[in-house]
Amino acid sequence: MKKVYLDNASTTALRPEVIQEMTKVLTEDYGNPSSTHSLGRSAKNILELSRKSIAKNLNATAQEIIFTSCGTEANNWILRSAVKDLKVKRIITSKIEHHAVLYTALVLEKEYGIQVDYVGIKPNGEIDITHLVELLSQEKKTLVSLMHVNNEIGTILDLERIGRICQEHNVLFHSDTVQSIGKTTIDLQKLPIDFIVASAHKFHGPKGVGFAFIRKNSGLQPLFFGGEQEKGLRAGTEALHQIAGMAKALELSYSNLETDKEHITELRNYLITQLEIEFPDFEINGTVDGFYTVLNVLLPFSADKTAMILFHLDMKGIAVSRGSACQSGSIKPSHVLAEMLSNEDLKKPSLRISFSHFNTIEDIDVLIEALKTI
Ligand code: PLP
Repeated sequence: MKKVYLDNASTTALRPEVIQEMTKVLTEDYGNPSSTHSLGRSAKNILELSRKSIAKNLNATAQEIIFTSCGTEANNWILRSAVKDLKVKRIITSKIEHHAVLYTALVLEKEYGIQVDYVGIKPNGEIDITHLVELLSQEKKTLVSLMHVNNEIGTILDLERIGRICQEHNVLFHSDTVQSIGKTTIDLQKLPIDFIVASAHKFHGPKGVGFAFIRKNSGLQPLFFGGEQEKGLRAGTEALHQIAGMAKALELSYSNLETDKEHITELRNYLITQLEIEFPDFEINGTVDGFYTVLNVLLPFSADKTAMILFHLDMKGIAVSRGSACQSGSIKPSHVLAEMLSNEDLKKPSLRISFSHFNTIEDIDVLIEALKTI
């Protein structure tokens, strides 16, 4: 049976060149980057070249890139240290953030008694910027944490605009860029932003590795303590094969960006056209001009089909997601859709279809045919 993988916002298949790079590092470059002998020095060289390559792709300096185990760790670190060390007294975020931000903010609220405010969400899933400006009129040491591209509905935040607003109000700005890194140009020299985070498995790199961009002189302190790795900001022997694989994956993502983007946009448009033909009453959760890698749709099926739809597609070899795949298996409705949809619509089946350059028009046809049999 042909497998159709349309769950790329959840995780992506590795590029063959990434596997090759990782295998080489695992086989030949097994030294500890902290060792002073030649194997160690060669490992250190790979580590620093990876950092430079990642920094170059984002127009940052190498010292501003700190390797972590994943996007979740990077988000936790930034929010926690902002409160603990930078003495932030308030976090402004939104109810449609990833749980790596939402739950961290809640824990910090309890632990440190900080204030957490939520910016309003418009019916199409976009952030209400007027409300953000209103919230910022309160004078308090603040961190704004708003994601770049929403992992469930693909809405896009204007990083430049929000960054300027944060700058004007003299507050810190963090953005969870896990879904956008490697998929759109991010110029950190130009963007007025303090912290962003990435996760390699979202851009055809390995799982279990990510990085944080920490703007120079931010004063951020480590989350845990031990060795001097990452200039003491993230202790623990570096997962060199993961890091080298991540750097390779990012480099390939950016060198193929325009062709991949064109191909994926074509697939997304084709899917919308096919849905319009076969299911004219379907609706897009979010906006039609949302991020090109994600399409979240409310299907005009009765609510009793909701429970079986993913299972039915899975039986046909099709992987898509309901709400956020990071919590697949959960029977709770998506916290993102819950902010946008009526109770009635929330009971109906919504699917998140997310693409990569590995997908084809045929994949979309297989999905549409399968949906027709429901
Ligand atoms: N933030 C967003 C927007 C995500 O989509 C995800 C993963 O789905 C994460 C954070 C967590 O990343 P990781 O799996 O690397 O912990």
